Amino acid sequence: MKILKERIMKDGRVFPGNVLKVDSFINHQIDTGLMAEIGEEFKRRYDNCGITKVLTIEASGIAIASFVAYKMGVPLVFAKKTQTKNIASDVYTAKVTSYTHGRVYDVIVSKEFITSADKVLIIDDFLANGQALLGLIEIVRSAGAEVAGAGIVIEKSFQDGGKLIRNSGIRVESLAMVSSLENGTVTFED
Ligand code: 5GP
Repeated sequence: MKILKERIMKDGRVFPGNVLKVDSFINHQIDTGLMAEIGEEFKRRYDNCGITKVLTIEASGIAIASFVAYKMGVPLVFAKKTQTKNIASDVYTAKVTSYTHGRVYDVIVSKEFITSADKVLIIDDFLANGQALLGLIEIVRSAGAEVAGAGIVIEKSFQDGGKLIRNSGIRVESLAMVSSLENGTVTFED
């Protein structure tokens, strides 16, 4: 997606640990015009797939996914991160290792909001090692629902997540594929 890649080149910042910061338009301050275009693009890619719900993970996924869900005319559900020891029985749960914080946490979704009748599009801001996506896939499958695919804004294709998830048979659509962050420079695949 050309405007997204141009924006990353202009405003993205590379940090140690292969972290790309996009705080000025996605992760802290949000460019809602760009989000609307991203929503439209995912709608175009997943049109006619029978999506009934969009699912993401708090916090950064929510803004993006709400534009996607709005454009598709379906509800947005977000998985909540929790450190509670006693997980309630009325939720689906998965363990996720955070790429940026290194911590393991439980993510939960109320059983009320995803059911076996759902076909789910999973949305997230970044794909690195695939841990967040795997957690969300586990939750959808625990509900007996179908994963229609995943929509990622920025995939770091030099990390293993994309390969892992695609090899498991799940469709992954990424709007920008970053092939390297070496020497503080963002390089795209195409
Ligand atoms: P994964 O679970 O695929 O290893 O990492 C994806 C999650 O970690 C995303 O939800 C995102 O919040 C965070 N993340 C991974 N890499 C980056 C990055 O380079 N920049 C930012 N801002 N977040 C990242």
